[in-house]
Amino acid sequence: MKSTLPAAFIQSLEGLPGFDRESFCRAHEYPEPATAIRLNPQKPFDVFGVYGALEPVPWSRWGYYLPERPLFVFDPLWHAGAYYVQEASSMFLEQCVRQCVDPSSSLRALDLCAAPGGKSTLLQSLLSANSLLVSNEVIKSRAPILEENLSKWGGLNSLVVNNDPRELGRMAEYFDLILVDAPCSGSGLFRKDPAAIKEWSPDAALMCSRRQQRILSDICPSLKKGGILIYSTCSYSAEENEDMADWLCEQFNLSPLRIDAPDPWSITETKSRKYGAFGYRFFPDKLKGEGFYISCFKKEEGARSERLVHKKPKWSRLPAKDEAVVRPWLNENMPVNLYALDGEVFAFPSALEQELEAAGGNLYLKKAGARIGKIAQGELVPAHELALSAALNEKIVVIPLKKDQALQYLRKETVTIDMEYKGWATVQYEGVNLGWVKVLGSRINNYYPKEWRILKTEKNKY
Ligand code: SAM
Repeated sequence: MKSTLPAAFIQSLEGLPGFDRESFCRAHEYPEPATAIRLNPQKPFDVFGVYGALEPVPWSRWGYYLPERPLFVFDPLWHAGAYYVQEASSMFLEQCVRQCVDPSSSLRALDLCAAPGGKSTLLQSLLSANSLLVSNEVIKSRAPILEENLSKWGGLNSLVVNNDPRELGRMAEYFDLILVDAPCSGSGLFRKDPAAIKEWSPDAALMCSRRQQRILSDICPSLKKGGILIYSTCSYSAEENEDMADWLCEQFNLSPLRIDAPDPWSITETKSRKYGAFGYRFFPDKLKGEGFYISCFKKEEGARSERLVHKKPKWSRLPAKDEAVVRPWLNENMPVNLYALDGEVFAFPSALEQELEAAGGNLYLKKAGARIGKIAQGELVPAHELALSAALNEKIVVIPLKKDQALQYLRKETVTIDMEYKGWATVQYEGVNLGWVKVLGSRINNYYPKEWRILKTEKNKY
């Protein structure tokens, strides 16, 4: 479908380094956005065996382009969290993290604007198991999709919180790494969502830049001295990008950092007018990805705001008799503490106990680590999330499924399995866990969560 860009929008981009009016407009007239996936290193499978030869995303260790966009809903591996469907340009965050911090060290990281969780899942893959990832989404109705995506990703070291940036900003000098993937005017995604073109105006871009300033001023005090701030948008506008970079340097004494982006990647390096802050802009007529901007900064000074107030957290350590019920379900090589929160058991890395106290006690916590299940009549009823998590004991019985069986399972239909065993087991597709079943002789009970089941049928595929 042909889409036309407003003259005021094109006008606003004139003079941006790398902007080529003709080829930019052509790329928007008949858009063919590339589809990319990023693999979950914690859930390996035979990717080329399943999808055939795939072209790698040049700036990502785990990213691949697909030859066409499939219906992901009919791929069990998507439901299992074996990969995340992510716009290729966004995957450049990996380069920023690897080049600005030592990902093997123990870091406290914050993804401030995290839903639906694309960049949080990438951060979780990059950070060491001893690092803490706080994934925040301020809009309450968007927090569940963030929880769902992080649950499927299966890592243990994350907290999902639902706070205003100002509340997180009170954790003075707490974080080593903060990502602000800011809400923006969204022009970078016009090719994927042509309906959004009508919403764009110079005033809308300006309004977004004011909101970005508010968010950044709220959160900057929580960055440690020497800590790294990564700022990104999916907008092309200088007001939301280079001007914001200048404003950050001025207001918070941040030093801009340069990221190595080799020429063959065709990413445009830009410099802000006043402070020469480096930024990286992605133009869809130059590379296989949509519009995106990212820049990185180091904090030179400490914050001068309130100190963290320790409040009593809502959760408690699990009593010893309940621990004894839960431990046999868990991976012995993964040291975790067990907590009770709202009647459910959660596992969180033991090494991060103090982080949980500090961060969790001050924030509106939606989830800590992995949800393990509920204890009923002295037995664990395992949570779906446990089956998808790194916390699961590898000795738990596994039932491999073929693709049609896996889809039946994900539709929450009856799956027939012929086996002697009785009890809880996980079902797998291509070696990746999909969820729980309870085998009762000739029949099995399907424990796939009702709210996540596939509703679409092959008939209403298109
Ligand atoms: N980082 C996400 C990812 O990679 O999947 C995408 C984030 S999206 C660009 C921006 C997010 O900021 C949205 O989830 C939106 O709800 C949130 N947001 C909106 N207004 C906000 C505000 N005032 N403060 C913080 N976050 C806000």
